[in-house]
Order: sequence, then C-alpha cells, then structure tokens
Amino acid sequence: MRENGEPTEVLRFAPSPNGWLHLGHACSALFAYETAKELNGRFLLRIEDIDVGRCRPEYEEAIYEDLAWLGLDWERPVRRQSEHFADYKAALKRLRDMGLVYPCFATRKDIADAIAATGIDARNWPVDPDGAPIYPGIYKDLAPAEMNRLMWEGRTYAWRLDTESALAKAEAIAGKALTFSEDGEGPNGETGTCAVKPALFGDVVIARKDVPTSYHLAVTVDDAIQGVTLVTRGQDLFHATYIHRILQVLLGLPEPRYRHHRLIRDDAGRRLSKSARDMGLRELRAAGKTPADIRRMVGF
Ligand code: GLU
Repeated sequence: MRENGEPTEVLRFAPSPNGWLHLGHACSALFAYETAKELNGRFLLRIEDIDVGRCRPEYEEAIYEDLAWLGLDWERPVRRQSEHFADYKAALKRLRDMGLVYPCFATRKDIADAIAATGIDARNWPVDPDGAPIYPGIYKDLAPAEMNRLMWEGRTYAWRLDTESALAKAEAIAGKALTFSEDGEGPNGETGTCAVKPALFGDVVIARKDVPTSYHLAVTVDDAIQGVTLVTRGQDLFHATYIHRILQVLLGLPEPRYRHHRLIRDDAGRRLSKSARDMGLRELRAAGKTPADIRRMVGF
C-alpha cells in the first residue's frame, strides 16, 4: 500500500476460454484473489484467448459466471488478448529487429522426420516442459533467399525464438546472469532467487504466421502493460518463467515477482485437465456443492 492509500501490488488470474473451468482453475483464481486481498493489492482477470481456433464465447461467459458464483470480483474492463494483437506484433517486431527470432516452416511431420534422421530413438529425444519435442533446428540457418521463397509460396510458419542467442543478449543487457524471484515454490522445491535455464525449451514458438503471438509473448507483454507486480499461477508454468524473464529483459519490461502454487490432482494423483468432467465447476455446482465447499476442496 502506498502512503496515499493506493494499492501497490497487482495480481491477476489469466484463464484461457478453451474449456469449462475445473477445480484447478478455482484453486488458481482463489490463490490470486486471496493473495491480492492479503496484500491490499488489486486483482485483475485477463482472458487469454489468442488461440482463436479453440476459444469460444460460451467458455468466456462461463468464466465470468463461475468466478462470480465463487464470490470473486475483479476490475473492469477485462483485458481480452484477442483485442490486443497490435501490442504483441510490436513486441515481435522488436525481437525480429534484434535478429532473435526466425521463421520456421517445419510441420510436426518434418520435426518427427528430422528427429528420426538423427538416429536417436524418438522416445529418447528431449521434450520441453510443455511436452513438445525440442526443436531440432531444421530451419534455423536458412539462407535469406530461401526464406523469402518459402514465404512467397504462402507456406505456413511459426516464429521461433533463437533461445541461446536471446539469453546471451538478455544477459549482456542485464550485465549479469538472469534470475527471478520465487516467493512460492517450483515443482522441485525451487524458491528464492532462481536461475533462468531456458535450454530446457530449445527454440520455442513465439508467434505464428496468422497469430502474431504465443502464450509466452502475450503473457509477458500483458503482465507489463497491466502493471502486474506478483505473478501467481500453477507450478506447471514455473519453467515458462525462464522464457518470460528473457523476453522482459529484451523488451525492456519491468520484472514482477513470482509465486507458483501446487496443482490440484485427481484421486489417482493426475493433474486435472479440461476433460476432467467430474471436477468441473459447473458439474460440482449442479451436484449441489456450494462456493464454500469448493474453497474447502482446493484448500482455501
Ligand atoms: N492462460 C494460462 C492458462 O490458462 C495461464 C497463464 C499464466 O497464468 O501465466 O493456463
């Protein structure tokens, strides 16, 4: 809290409207909301709807309805990422101007074939924290003329971050090795000052031909634009912070603190997914559960 009584901390819950909310979302939303209350901070809701193919208006409506039913309140207007592509495009352009992104024309099959060609068993090929195989770099050093030819042909492509060069550049700008401050805990108990180790991701997709952003770029740009000071989210996104810190430094954005929380699991110990119907907030509500029951179920 500032001396004039204005809140200094800004927190957010940032769901993607590509399915119905379940207990895992309730946990994340309540975690952000209650932490904001504790810190006398602001609580924002952000709709992460860049995946135009999978996001649907009825899911977005359900987010507002379910969160209100849970007793949450948030500032209006709500930022909807699909209305801000120009912001992400500008950030992407800066990364391009720095020579840190390149167009990758590889299909999933091209990637699988390139991995097979190395002679390494696909099951032993490293995967990134999102479960995608580490990009084998097939289009990384394409000659400019070839790149132009493929673009003119109208081929689909994704913009990938040259992660190694991006880290080197970010460290040169920062004048030191990159770290972030974790107030909570990562999946392996990481806490306090954490080192940024993006090699885990390889060259991640930062934008696509038809959508000028990806989760990583949009979340980084938005947290800065919205003045988020404490990023709270599930431990499944802990490693993504490596990429976000690099982007923050490259784009000259402020550094928030992070507080990752444990994930809600089903009875078999599996992470909840959008298809975990029995854990859906709508199903639980229809079965007579109250908001207080939901709070208890997720530990609040
Ligand atoms: N939109 C992301 C999700 O639904 C969360 C983004 C974040 O909290 O950084 O999983």
